[in-house]
Amino acid sequence: MKTFVTAARWIAEAGRIVAFTGAGISVESGIPTFRGEGGLWSRYDPKVLELGYFYEEPEAAWRVIKELFYDTLTKAPAPNAAHRLLAELERAGKLIGVITQNIDGLHQKAGSRNVIEFHGTAKRLVCLACRKKVAFLSEMLEVLPPRCGCGGVLKPDFIFFGEGIGPENYQKSVAWLNEADLLLIVGTTGEVMPASMLPFEAKKARVIEINPEPTRYSEEKTDLFLQAKAGEAALALAKRLLLKL
Ligand code: NAD
Repeated sequence: MKTFVTAARWIAEAGRIVAFTGAGISVESGIPTFRGEGGLWSRYDPKVLELGYFYEEPEAAWRVIKELFYDTLTKAPAPNAAHRLLAELERAGKLIGVITQNIDGLHQKAGSRNVIEFHGTAKRLVCLACRKKVAFLSEMLEVLPPRCGCGGVLKPDFIFFGEGIGPENYQKSVAWLNEADLLLIVGTTGEVMPASMLPFEAKKARVIEINPEPTRYSEEKTDLFLQAKAGEAALALAKRLLLKL
């Protein structure tokens, strides 16, 4: 298809690529999105991720959070071709880094090193009392809520509704985007603020977007829209770039 040929050419021509990814990039790895058809919010109440509710009802909140995130994560999902393409472009010295809204750690698992986890990660827990951070282990969820050695309740180290974004993550993302000559937006609706504003910081970059559905970016920011699943698009691009994924 002509659009894939053009996208592959733009990637070949670029030297400072930045990727901005959302839940859609991990769908083909078996992790559902929040919104849209089959999305988690069609089955669960988003209040479990509100900070106030978590403080009041940590056990009830954890029961759902475990089912939403940790039961899938402990099945050790594998990165797909889209995660691998980004890791390969970094290895080739063409990609500055990945800014992800995801908390699943799949970019790192695919080999990406420069990853900004804009919303934090599910792979670490933080104590609400002493703020100590600990790596997540599945046995920690045998009794809910999990507790720190100090007795405090442990919370996933990702951003809940009502929490602020770390200023370092924001500043580093903007610095990368200011430098970028190509922005790849993959699998995000662009509805979660302030992450959703980040692509608009890439003022000098061509923008390729990959998503099976058009989004706000397709109208407002994207130069080339690849209407496709992330993994399928990655394979099509890799073929044209002569990359083995
Ligand atoms: P979203 O749920 O709002 O949107 C997902 C997007 O992915 C949609 O635009 C959809 O069309 C697209 N999509 C669906 N299947 C796709 C595929 N195979 N390939 C490419 N795109 C596909 O997601 P969001 O706005 O990215 O996320 C909201 C917040 O929830 C973010 O912080 C997100 O990281 C978090 N979240 C993370 C995970 C994860 O870590 N895997 C899962 C669910 C939600």
